[in-house]
Amino acid sequence: PRAAPARFSDAAEALHTVFGYDRFRGEQAAIIRQVSDGGDALVLMPTGGGKSLCYQIPALLREGTGVVVSPLIALMHDQVDALEAVGVRAAYLNSTQSPAERASVERAYVAGELDLLYIAPERLSSEQAKRFLERGTIALFAIDEAHCVSQWGHDFRPDYLALGELAERWPDVPRIALTATATEVTHREITERLHLADARHFVSSFDRPNVQYRIVAKNDPRRQLLDFIRAEHAGDAGIVYALSRATTEKTAEFLRQNGVDAEPYHAGLDAAQRARTQSRFLREDGVVIVATIAFGMGIDKPDVRFVAHVDLPKSVEGYYQETGRAGRDGEPSTAWLAYGLQDVVQQRGLIERSPGDLAHRRRQTAHLDAMLALCETVGCRRVDLLGYFGQQSSACGNCDTCLTPPESWDGTVPAQKLLSTVVRLKRERGQSFGAGQTIDILRGKTTARTEQWGHERLSTWGIGADLSDQQWRGIVRQLLAQGVLAAAGEYGTLALTDASARVLAGERAVMLRTEPDRAPSRSSRRAA
Ligand code: ADP
Ligand code: ZN
Repeated sequence: PRAAPARFSDAAEALHTVFGYDRFRGEQAAIIRQVSDGGDALVLMPTGGGKSLCYQIPALLREGTGVVVSPLIALMHDQVDALEAVGVRAAYLNSTQSPAERASVERAYVAGELDLLYIAPERLSSEQAKRFLERGTIALFAIDEAHCVSQWGHDFRPDYLALGELAERWPDVPRIALTATATEVTHREITERLHLADARHFVSSFDRPNVQYRIVAKNDPRRQLLDFIRAEHAGDAGIVYALSRATTEKTAEFLRQNGVDAEPYHAGLDAAQRARTQSRFLREDGVVIVATIAFGMGIDKPDVRFVAHVDLPKSVEGYYQETGRAGRDGEPSTAWLAYGLQDVVQQRGLIERSPGDLAHRRRQTAHLDAMLALCETVGCRRVDLLGYFGQQSSACGNCDTCLTPPESWDGTVPAQKLLSTVVRLKRERGQSFGAGQTIDILRGKTTARTEQWGHERLSTWGIGADLSDQQWRGIVRQLLAQGVLAAAGEYGTLALTDASARVLAGERAVMLRTEPDRAPSRSSRRAA
């Protein structure tokens, strides 16, 4: 077969001539040298760090075609278009193509007419596809989104497991694996599963100093979001993430009614509308997208001034990846998240009812717990976030907890009041209730439901009247986050955990974070 010839002999020349940039960023130059010299590399670099050039340039420096494994089929087309526009001969193979299109790409590859070939992972796991690749000359393998090989990660794809075999089949072809997800566990799993123990590991800093992290207690999310946008980001481009399609639509509509140029975006909208929305976001100023996670992968807009979450992300990795879309231009930007009791109840419930096996649910629980710990921390958010990715740092001075250090208070007594109410309902009545009813009992608030159940006769009736509904909801949320309380089933009925027993027995104190907005007043704290 004919090999695609090397297009350049010098990396800097390729950078200027093809991509029009003056200098390499961060570790790009070292990574490119490693791979173009034939070595393997594992690259952990945050979103927007410039991972693509790390394999695109070596592919231009080496003879043969760079084979890029990417799970983001929807993006292949755009990536290839962008490369062709700057004169790189690129193509892709995936399931969206007709047999004729595929045949023509395959012919070009075998004839040595391609610098880069993007390919979906499920293709590479077939023997037929590997035999086809053997008919051409491979300059390198790039494995993008390499964290997909990690079963512990948040984005596992079984097809990635087969990529470990590339090392045996093509021992002389350099491999570069890239990801923006860099927990210790995923790093280790990528190394093992992709056989990269002998590769050089390039670990960039994950800090985004220009992004200010803020997490607030959720009580009226749409109104809170609007206030936040009006106060700090009027007229700015931003992305708002929500978990459900319905929430994205309602939120976008609410923002529009209040003068914010917002558009919903989710997988249920037709392709033409999604494309229109995306192109408005990229080309016009000050468009706010309210989206499910379907939006953002591969979107390269440098001046996104804020990323807001109105629902709790399922993992720290996801949160970091989504907030990473803010401020790629290095200018001050905000990552704002509102989260509340309902988020914890809902997500614990989703995990409980998820179809996977026990190990899968445990992983999801661990992801959620890490996210909750970040939300409830009294320390610097950035220290927590970077610590999660294995990087040490000191208090940043540019997150909400640094700017207004939260007080913590001893919530043992209110926690005991709440837990004993749950115990009594169970023991004396054989009943379980969600947070709402339990809080009504604590506050001694008569409703149709408390009368119906005769809850006024419980000995804990009204023993928590010193705290407001809002404060109790904050307490329940924090107890759930700390695992001192559990919420089970579809209705999030409250239940005890092993830790609850120790709190009730007075063997364990419960420290709670003072909620910034409506903190318990001094007197009620003393009373508690
Ligand atoms: P990642 O894949 O790490 O999220 P990309 O490869 O998409 O990041 O790069 C992010 C943006 O930075 C792109 O617009 C890219 O063209 C730009 N970029 C990458 N390297 C450089 C560089 N050396 N100089 C200037 N811009 C760069
Ligand atoms: Zn901080």
